[in-house]
Amino acid sequence: MVSDIRPTRLVQSRPLRGIIMDFDIECPECGTAVNVTLQDVGQRRTVRCRRGHSIKLEDQGGGARKAQKALDDLDRAIKRLGR
Ligand SMILES: [Zn+2]
Repeated sequence: MVSDIRPTRLVQSRPLRGIIMDFDIECPECGTAVNVTLQDVGQRRTVRCRRGHSIKLEDQGGGARKAQKALDDLDRAIKRLGR
């Protein structure tokens, strides 16, 4: 049922900080492209595809966390330059 699908909130309402990298993954249930951020993966969030399937994100080997940390470091370096 279409009415069962709730809007997916990928970005939290609080102001975003730093550099966000997002990319599409495929829903394992239906193959729909789902847009997630590196932070979502690093924090092993559960996201929903447009059809309402929930997808538990896995950060295998902690790669997403490390990549997000690199982006955070880069963001800090840029802010220092801008001073
Ligand atoms: Zn799906």
